[in-house]
Amino acid sequence: VRAAQIYGNGLTGRETEMTMSEATTEPDLEALWKPIKIGSVEIANRVMVPAHLTGYGAHLGFGDRDISYLEKRAAGGAGLVLTGGAAIGTEGSRGLTAIWPPEAVSAYRRLAEVIHRYDTKVFVQLLHNGQHDTGIDDIDHWGPVLSASDVPSPVYGKVPKAMEADDIRRTVEAYGRAAENARDAGLDGLELSGGHGYLICQFLSPLTNRRDDEYGGSLENRCRFPIEILTEIRRRCGTDFPVGIRLSFDEFLGDVGITPELAEENLAVLHGTGLLDYVNISAINYHTIARLVPPMTSGIDTGHFVPYAARAKRVVGDAIPVVVASAIRDVAEAAQIVSEGKADLVGMVRAHIADPAIAAKARSGRTGQIRRCVAANQGCIRSLVTGNMLTCTVNPEVGREGTLGAAMEKSATTERSILVVGGGPAGMKVAEVAAKRGHRVLLAERTDELGGKLRPASELPNRASWLYLIEDLEGSLRRHGVETRTGIDVDTEFVRNLDPDVTIVATGSHFEKSGYSISLPTRDGIPGLGTTDVRDPLETLGSLESVGRSVLIVDEVGDHLPAGLALMLSAAGHHVEIVTTQLFGGTGMTQTNDFAFVIPELEKAGVPTHSQSLVGVIAGNDVTVQSIWGRGRPKSITAETVILNMPRRSDDSLYRQLADDGVAVERIGDCLAPRNVDDAIFEGASCGSRL
Ligand code: SF4
Repeated sequence: VRAAQIYGNGLTGRETEMTMSEATTEPDLEALWKPIKIGSVEIANRVMVPAHLTGYGAHLGFGDRDISYLEKRAAGGAGLVLTGGAAIGTEGSRGLTAIWPPEAVSAYRRLAEVIHRYDTKVFVQLLHNGQHDTGIDDIDHWGPVLSASDVPSPVYGKVPKAMEADDIRRTVEAYGRAAENARDAGLDGLELSGGHGYLICQFLSPLTNRRDDEYGGSLENRCRFPIEILTEIRRRCGTDFPVGIRLSFDEFLGDVGITPELAEENLAVLHGTGLLDYVNISAINYHTIARLVPPMTSGIDTGHFVPYAARAKRVVGDAIPVVVASAIRDVAEAAQIVSEGKADLVGMVRAHIADPAIAAKARSGRTGQIRRCVAANQGCIRSLVTGNMLTCTVNPEVGREGTLGAAMEKSATTERSILVVGGGPAGMKVAEVAAKRGHRVLLAERTDELGGKLRPASELPNRASWLYLIEDLEGSLRRHGVETRTGIDVDTEFVRNLDPDVTIVATGSHFEKSGYSISLPTRDGIPGLGTTDVRDPLETLGSLESVGRSVLIVDEVGDHLPAGLALMLSAAGHHVEIVTTQLFGGTGMTQTNDFAFVIPELEKAGVPTHSQSLVGVIAGNDVTVQSIWGRGRPKSITAETVILNMPRRSDDSLYRQLADDGVAVERIGDCLAPRNVDDAIFEGASCGSRL
């Protein structure tokens, strides 16, 4: 019995349609392909890649990896790509690339030259973090954080220095110099980051602008800082260099922040200056940032900021174009937004990370071949917030366009027969890439379906978009002629009889079930496990009908599984508690924006979490839970079922037997070492590109 059959999995009717990876009829996308002018520049179509951070340059650097990354999106048919946020100076530059040093101009010039090989324009977004900074660029550049007022940031908690007249003058000039650099580099235009709680937004918002001088108090005064910046940019760059601004139309904090009504007034004042060539409508500030890049668990469907763009259109009319970006990944939806006049261009970040050729595929009638973003925020958001570079769960070429990407596209010199054992993400990906490169591939899977652990994981509440990854790979396997056989338990004899040139083993992993905790390494496992009903998360999903009424989920990992199971089971009437050795339940979810949606749901469901705790002993339905620090009195919990979410162990016995027999064999994914689906996809692609 499948979890979704009993509890539902959050799929709406619309999402069910979207899970059909190969549409039978092509949507009407004509509205997307009409050119549009931004100021003096013509944009070839309405598909845009908005500014987003990549982390590719070391310490403010902007270089070849960024250029290759953006080139791929230009080659993929986007009409406009933005790079940035680019810092205007050392102040407020944490995590950004730099456009202020004169030497940066040559890198941006290379970018412009590369992008202009395609029918694509390139703008830069200028950004100053303001309060969301540490004030420390490097050990030679230490200083206070700057903002409109001394309101601390929810990110770093630093109390800023409220900018004084010379701070404002210096910053305005820095914006002007950065704009000059952008124009001199041959970029086609620029965008000011005036939303998302960054410096300009800090001046526009009553939440962060508590000033009583000419930069605060009234609406006109709060708009003075961006108007001075725009005026300085025009003074230096003239009127035929397109300049736009991104604005948050709602900070989701009620009257203390920017409301849609106030945003309309802000926009009317800024637009009234005649200094803007376009406006890019977004929402949120750093208190509500999880809604900017909503994970699948958010339940937020796409286009949640589109109504704000429609309001902005009513403010500016047809005088300047309105852009909207809003978790939109469906080209049909993008076309509808444009054709209904809600926005003039549609920004799609994650959709372009997942598939850089989304526009080209859509335009050539191949919407069913678009690789869809799964909205797990693992390769993108998690990578960046953990200090790594932008990657993508479903697209291993991201950031590796010149290396892995190029290798994946290169045809094999000799056609070989490849047996792939295991139809999870790693096995599917290696089969896809090998077949694409010209090999004959047989993919053998033990169960009846492809997808590995992702398939049951997609049945947890609001996790259904994992199915996109499986379905898109299945479609690609079909298109590339991979022979897929399910229900086959491959053993050494099977391999000997088939005698392929190479065997790739991707047999995955299983959950550790001893209950061993790294927080109590002196113990082999949980005493008394055999006295009660103990399962791992996937066993639980496969046999929900027999789960006891009281459930204890023991978590050593900190991922989404315990929370997802807890929500599912408590919704079905089970009493669920979670015990975790971690500082708090679901620590990993803080890196993917899931926490902002899942933790409140757990609270609403009344699921208690015993953090920094582990199971002492199990005696039938009696479970003792104790602090990992060994202090305090153990608690006694009743649990008819105990679910262990423990680290996994590789299923590598077939690989070892084949290797011992001298067969040409490789192992990838969890079979090599249990990790994330991101690692499995990367390893599949990497292995496939070497065959
Ligand atoms: S990493 Fe995931 S959420 Fe981010 S773009 Fe790729 S598929 Fe989408």
